[in-house]
Parts: sequence; structure tokens; C-alpha cells
Amino acid sequence: MKHLFGMAELERPQIERLLALAESFVELSRRPLRKAPTLRGKTIINLFFENSTRTRTSFEIAGKRLSADVINISAATSATKKGESLLDTGQTLAAMQPHVLVIRHGIAGCCQFLADYLPQTAIVNAGDGAHEHPTQVLTDLLTLRQHLGGVAGKTITMVGDIAHSRVARSHLIAANTMGYRLRLVAPKTLLPREVERYGCEVTHDFDAALAGSDVLYMLRVQQERLTSNFAFPSVREYHEAYGLNRRRLAMAGSDCVVLHPGPMNRGVEIATDVADGSQSRILDQVENGVAVRMAVLTTLCGGGD
Ligand code: ASP
Repeated sequence: MKHLFGMAELERPQIERLLALAESFVELSRRPLRKAPTLRGKTIINLFFENSTRTRTSFEIAGKRLSADVINISAATSATKKGESLLDTGQTLAAMQPHVLVIRHGIAGCCQFLADYLPQTAIVNAGDGAHEHPTQVLTDLLTLRQHLGGVAGKTITMVGDIAHSRVARSHLIAANTMGYRLRLVAPKTLLPREVERYGCEVTHDFDAALAGSDVLYMLRVQQERLTSNFAFPSVREYHEAYGLNRRRLAMAGSDCVVLHPGPMNRGVEIATDVADGSQSRILDQVENGVAVRMAVLTTLCGGGD
């Protein structure tokens, strides 16, 4: 593995290997001394042009936990504010000889674009526009491995803003690779047309999609990517039609697992008592996010066997 651009380039055995390695890092992360020398002498730059709490912090902790030198740069404090292009920023940082560049950017495909110009640097996509977010999906797969014993043959019902979600797009690809079913629930305005090509079930009726769901995966409405204000009439109506509340969770059953990639908008796509309830694995996703990023960084730096 030279780069990680998306789930599209990962085969099932590679995913299984990353998850197994991540599991060992979950264990390391619970020890009193949370440190290993695996990436000593390696330099990792986290370059974030979009806001982030979980992804950015977990990449930073992941690198530090493995003894790498980690540098964080955000758009607000970088020379892009002075008009520098993404390519110039990338080439400038690559000239300082980092081993890995972790990038979050609003433009889909920007990681592949930069990789063509930076042959010495491994690039990780930490979310590129509405395109892909592979480390989030690996995090979800690890969480479901822990709580359901794996995803093969399971049904994940994903609800909300599918159209603008890079998490949804990465899951659409991973579902085929890993053999799980994705059931998509969204208002027409938040559903991309190309979704049919993935062959998944699509509905606008959340209640009808609950039975048989092993996982309810709630998505935030990506206000920052909406081109119109009219994707749905009001927050109250959205919550009525597409919000996960106790009544709906009870219809899905007591074994159903609740996931959300964060950040949550409580009272919009998810009710507070469900987000904090016993079927929610949302904070497990966060914990696993560190371990998965440790596994990705280790693998990109040539370790992991
Ligand atoms: N954190 C996820 C992402 O960056 C989901 C979200 O922002 O709603 O795509």
C-alpha cells in the first residue's frame, strides 16, 4: 500500500489485515503506557483545509502513540490564506521530506491529484469533498467486527444526507468488497441519482426500512455542501421523517447497533436519548478511529506484518 485514497483501491484481504492490526492497537491504547516505537524517525504532516475534531485529533494521537514526529497544519494558519495553491503547498511540504501527508480538503480527488506530483510521499485521504473518507469506514468496520462479529451478510441502514456524504460513498464501495447490504433512506433531494448503479435498496420511508436492520447508521445533513436551502422544509419536519428516536429504534430491535460518524446534530438526525443510549456505539467508533489510523500509518510506513 503506497497511498490510501479511498475504499475503491482496497481488496478484502487488505481490509482484513488493517482491521486485525487496528485491533492490536486498540489493546495498546488501553494500556497504562500508551506508546510504541513503531514509527520512530518517521515524520507525518496532517494538512487540514476543512474543519475536523475526530479525524484530525485521532491522526495526531495515532502518530504520537507510535512515536512519529507529527506536525499539524490547518488552512486557517497556512499560506493558502496568502493565495498559495494546493499544489504549491503540497510541493513545499513534500520538500521537507515527510513520510506521510494526511490531507482533508473540500475538493474531490485532490489526494490523487497531489500524489502525481509528490512521488516520495505517502498520501492519506482524510476526507476529500463529497468523494471518500476511507479511514471512517475502516473505523466503522472495526466497530461492527467488535459488536456484530463482522459485517458479511449484515444489513446497514444508512439514513440522511447520502448525496453529500463521503462516508456514504465509501460505504457504497466497501459494501461490495466486504459483502454487506446497504439500505439507503433519504428524502429525494438528498439522494444522488448514481446510487442505483450500486444496486442497493433505496427508500424514502424510514419506518418501512427499520425491520431487518442490523445497524442504523445516521448521517449529518452537510449544510456546508448544500447548494440550496430547500433540501427539506424544516428541521422539525426532517426530524419527524428521518430522525432516529426511541420509537424507531424499538422497531428495529434490541440487537440493532446505532452508529454516527460525527459530528452529531442532536434533535435533527438523532435524538439525544438514542445517541447516549445503550445501543449506541458512537464513542466506540471514536476510540477505534485512533487504532485504525495507527494501522493505516504503520502500513504506509512499511510495517504491519
Ligand atoms: N465527519 C464526517 C466527514 O468528515 C461526517 C460529517 O462531517 O458529517 O465526512
